[in-house]
Amino acid sequence: MNVVVCLKQVPGTTQVKIDPQTNTLIRQGIENIINPFDTYAIEEGVRLRERTGGKVTAISMGPPQAETALREAISLGADEGILLSDPTFAGADTWTTSYTISAALRKLGQYDLVICGRQTLDGDTGHVGPQLAEMLALPFIAYVSQIEEIADGSLRVQRMVEDGYEVVESPLPAVITVVKEINMPRLPSLRGIARSKSATIPVWGAKELNTDPGRVGLAGSFTRVIRIFSPQRVCQGEIFQGEAEEQVDCLVNRLKDDGFI
Ligand SMILES: Cc1cc2nc3c(=O)[nH]c(=O)nc-3n(C[C@H](O)[C@H](O)[C@H](O)COP(=O)(O)OP(=O)(O)OC[C@H]3O[C@@H](n4cnc5c(N)ncnc54)[C@H](O)[C@@H]3O)c2cc1C
Repeated sequence: MNVVVCLKQVPGTTQVKIDPQTNTLIRQGIENIINPFDTYAIEEGVRLRERTGGKVTAISMGPPQAETALREAISLGADEGILLSDPTFAGADTWTTSYTISAALRKLGQYDLVICGRQTLDGDTGHVGPQLAEMLALPFIAYVSQIEEIADGSLRVQRMVEDGYEVVESPLPAVITVVKEINMPRLPSLRGIARSKSATIPVWGAKELNTDPGRVGLAGSFTRVIRIFSPQRVCQGEIFQGEAEEQVDCLVNRLKDDGFI
């Protein structure tokens, strides 16, 4: 079973600052981590390889420092990592991100299953998994919480829905996104850490992927970020003093005075 895991490097903090001139994230001095949902995708890929053989390839599109995330994926059990990086990929929206990753999957060729996280911590759209499937004309299953069976070119999974779960079967190859209920990611092994340090991480750019310059990065994006800002606090909180009942009376009166009730 050849599994491809898509992972994104994201800021490991919610205390991010926005450059008011460029409207982009100030990344200097911020610790980056693998998007937490993607660690479940890596773990599931590694478990599948342990059950069925084959290999796990981790792919990430990002700036050169995203190589660290791929090395971490190798320390967690992935066999290899490929970085998709090129100046023309910068400023990509989710559509051009998916286009670029789909070009890498086409170049890679032999894979049975593509696993993505359900969403990222920063962009948070959940677009990339389904868009990838659409661009590659593959079946897609979202919110997978258990792989029940995988064999003979087919897959049976449980996917989470609002009030329970559904069991879905699909032919392979397919794309799935996973939720954190699917497994408990392992810690890096000593052997994995050693392998990750010496691994060669190929970098595929526009030339290697033969991407259309009008379909990647900011140039190909259908959306533009006009402004990013932290919401301003509009009023200060107020703490009522006294016994609990007095505090409730004060609160109710205040809500009445302000016309809320
Ligand atoms: C106009 C515009 C400009 C932007 N410019 C920039 C920019 O300059 N720099 C920047 O960092 N971001 C930029 N972004 C954000 C960027 O488009 C998103 O980070 C990216 O498309 C992924 O979307 P998401 O984070 O919502 O991922 P989701 O769709 O929520 O991710 C779901 C899953 O898809 C996979 N995945 C997502 N992204 C990647 C990736 N890059 N590589 C591999 N797998 C992935 C992971 O498995 C992930 O769990 C821009 C967005 C817009 C709209």
